[in-house]
Amino acid sequence: MSIARRDLLSRVARLAGTAALARATLGAQSPPGRKLKVIVTGGHPGDPEYGCGGTVARYADQGHDVALLYLNRGEKTCPETPAGAASNVRVAEAAKACEILKARSIFAGQCDGHAMVDEPHYREFRDLIDAERPDVLFTHWPIDGHRDHRAISALAYDAWLATGKKFAFYYYEVSDGEDTLMFPPTDFVDITASEARKRQACYAHASQAPDKFYALQSQVTRFRGLESGYTQAEAYVRHAQSRERLLPSDLRP
Ligand SMILES: [Zn+2]
Repeated sequence: MSIARRDLLSRVARLAGTAALARATLGAQSPPGRKLKVIVTGGHPGDPEYGCGGTVARYADQGHDVALLYLNRGEKTCPETPAGAASNVRVAEAAKACEILKARSIFAGQCDGHAMVDEPHYREFRDLIDAERPDVLFTHWPIDGHRDHRAISALAYDAWLATGKKFAFYYYEVSDGEDTLMFPPTDFVDITASEARKRQACYAHASQAPDKFYALQSQVTRFRGLESGYTQAEAYVRHAQSRERLLPSDLRP
């Protein structure tokens, strides 16, 4: 082989190696390898934890940034006085639950039981989501017995549409029978290994009768497990126009 030919071949090999490295680098930056920003919206402190706590723990353990966005602070009087806000046990419970799940809390500032869904609140919620720039967003299934849950579902869906359906969009279920009804799952997340942390986070909401409500939610996750072939699972409805599949089970560990 001539020196020129050998030189040419080695240059081709180097270029091929560079291309392979570039492909690997690109692969690392594209889903499912990149660090995601995940937002789980809920009407009240506790809703995201009860509906999605096992999934949240899995995202956090994979190194993703997870925020629990509560429509209100579960306050007793509305609007809250500064003294009431300082002693709001629901906010302290949410902080503890978020610490357990390695998530952060965001409050949308509405009032418990008095949810507003009108043009100013659509705009306010859209701006909040726009500023966070999530990759994935979860919200309540819209057929729900609690108006605060229906309200945040509508606000979240509107924000998704208004921002050009840029992020993955999933619905979750909570307190089935009393709240969520007629929920037809499309996707399941195995939470067998993360259920203990979910339980701890739900029990952080000590003022909200966790013995009663966690027992009910456990029936749901065990049934979803039966459906999907796991011991316990959380179920979701993925919006048909959601561009990516970004549940923890879709992502590289
Ligand atoms: Zn609620």
